[in-house]
Amino acid sequence: MSTTRMNAGPAGEPAPLEVRIHRGAHEIGGNCVELRHGQDTLILDIGKPLTAAWDEVVPLPAAIGLDEHGTRPLGVVISHGHQDHWGLAPQLPTDIPVFIGEGAANILRAAQFWGSGVDLHEAGHLHDRVPFTLGPFTITPYLADHSAYDAFSLLVQAGGRSLFYTGDIRGHGRKAAAFERLLADPPSPVHAINMEGTSFRTADRDDGDVAMSESGNRTAAGPSLAADSDADATGLAPELASLTESEVEIQLAATLRATTGLVVVLASAQNIDRLVTVYRATLRADRDLVIDLYTADIAAATGRPSIPAVSDDWPRVHVYAPLRQRVRVKESGQFERVDRVKNRRLYPEQLRERASQLVLFGAYQSEIPNLIREGLLTDGAVVWSMWDGYLNEPSGQRLQKALKASNIQLIQHHTSGHATPTDLARLVQGLRPEVVIPIHTEAPGEYAATVGDIVQPHGDGTWWLV
Ligand SMILES: [Zn+2]
Repeated sequence: MSTTRMNAGPAGEPAPLEVRIHRGAHEIGGNCVELRHGQDTLILDIGKPLTAAWDEVVPLPAAIGLDEHGTRPLGVVISHGHQDHWGLAPQLPTDIPVFIGEGAANILRAAQFWGSGVDLHEAGHLHDRVPFTLGPFTITPYLADHSAYDAFSLLVQAGGRSLFYTGDIRGHGRKAAAFERLLADPPSPVHAINMEGTSFRTADRDDGDVAMSESGNRTAAGPSLAADSDADATGLAPELASLTESEVEIQLAATLRATTGLVVVLASAQNIDRLVTVYRATLRADRDLVIDLYTADIAAATGRPSIPAVSDDWPRVHVYAPLRQRVRVKESGQFERVDRVKNRRLYPEQLRERASQLVLFGAYQSEIPNLIREGLLTDGAVVWSMWDGYLNEPSGQRLQKALKASNIQLIQHHTSGHATPTDLARLVQGLRPEVVIPIHTEAPGEYAATVGDIVQPHGDGTWWLV
C-alpha cells in the first residue's frame, strides 16, 4: 500500500512526525498510539483496558478516520497477542489493514474456539528486522522478549524522524538474547522512545491496590482460560517479578522433586515461554507433561518444531481433557478436536496410577475440585504460575479455600512479562534517544528517577512531535 500524497509543508520542509497516545499514558493496558505525517496516519496497537470485562464494549479511540470523519489510517500494527493490545481490533472498519506477527495471529485464531482469541483477518505479518512501508511510514519490527509469543517492538520512521515503540518488553525471559541484541545492535538514530513501564511503581502504593483486584480479562469460561493479558506484572512480589524464566524452571523442578503426588501447574496457555519452562522442569524431575486441549491447540499454532506439542516428536507430552473442555467440544460437535489427540490422552485412572510421574500444565483451574474429589491430588500440589492478583478474585478465593480444606499445598512459581526498571534503563542507554515518553504504566512520574531527565510524560489525547 502506498500513497501519492505529498507530505510537505508550505516551505517545502518535510511534514513533522506527530504522535498522540489515545490510551496507556497513565494506565497498564488498553494501549493505542496514533502517528501522523501530513495527512497520513498510522495506529500502533488497539487494546482493550484491563479494567474492562471480556464481554464489555469499549468504544474505539477518537483517532482520525476511525469514525466516518477523516481519511482512514493506513494501517493498524499490533505489537503482540495480549488483549490489552488488540482487544478493540474487531470493532475496526474492515477496510483498515491490520498487521501482526504470524505466530501471534495463529495463536489468537486457535484460541477463538476456547473463548479467548479472535481472527484478526490480518493483511500482513511482522518479521524481525524486516522493514515495510505504509505511505510515508517505514515500520521495522524488532522481536521482543515478552510473555506473549511472537511479540515485537516497532521502529517507525517518517519525515526524517524516528520513534521506537517498545510494546511490551523484558530482558529476563526465554528470548533474553533478543533484548541483548537490541542493545548491542540498536537502530540509529532513535529520536524518541515510547516506552512501557509496567514495573515502575508509585512509592506510596500499597499492595492491596484496587486497580490490581479489578484487572484481568474474564471470559464466560472463567479465568483458567482467560489469563492471557498483561496483568502479570502488577502487584507481583519483587522477589518473584525479578526471576528469570530459567530460575523459575530450576525452582519448579525442585518443587516437583519434593512432591510425591500429582502436580498441577496453573498458567496461561498463551504464555509459551512458561510452557517451555514447565516442560524443561518436568524433564529435570523425570516426569512427563500433561496439557489440556486448549494448551495443545496453542502450542500447535506456534508452528515451531522447538515448542513442546502433542505429536510423535514429543513422547513425553500427553493430554488430559478437563470436564469443561469436554463439554465445550461436545456442544460444538467438533469431535475432531479430541480425535486428533486420542492416542495421547490420559484418563483419571492413569493420572492415579502415574501420579508421581506426571505434571499437568495449563487451563486446569476449574478441574481442581474434580481432581480433589477423585483423590488424584493426594500427596500432590498445585503451582500458581500466573499473576498473583487473580488469586484475589472470586475464582482464586474459591481455589485457595478448596485446597486448604483438603490440605493441598499452593506454591507460586512465576516471573513478570515486563522489564525491570534496571533493564528499561539499559534499553534507554542502548538506544540513546532524545526523549522517553511513558506508556503502559501506572507511574509515568517514576521513570525519571531511573531513566533520567529525558523523560517527557504526555497525557492521553495530546499531540506531540518526535
Ligand atoms: Zn503484553
